[in-house]
Amino acid sequence: MSSPSPYAACPKCGAREARKVNFTWWGGVLGPNLLTHVECPQCKTQYNGKTGRSNKNGIIIYFAVFTAIGLVALFFLLLLMILAQQG
Ligand SMILES: [Zn+2]
Repeated sequence: MSSPSPYAACPKCGAREARKVNFTWWGGVLGPNLLTHVECPQCKTQYNGKTGRSNKNGIIIYFAVFTAIGLVALFFLLLLMILAQQG
């Protein structure tokens, strides 16, 4: 009773049964949603369900952007703590 997937066919085996990935180590819950990250149940390949291509570049960009935001946030947090101590 599997209905055809609304996502693009698997780039590796051509199956059209991709399922949405809800959580990944690199993007938590938000990342895979932003990149339409899906997984093929046949060969376990993960790819972009919209384009049918690898999400590798998207993941790298997503990871880099969020790491940068995290580092900036951490920097300001430390700055605030130092200023508060001197205050
Ligand atoms: Zn596949």
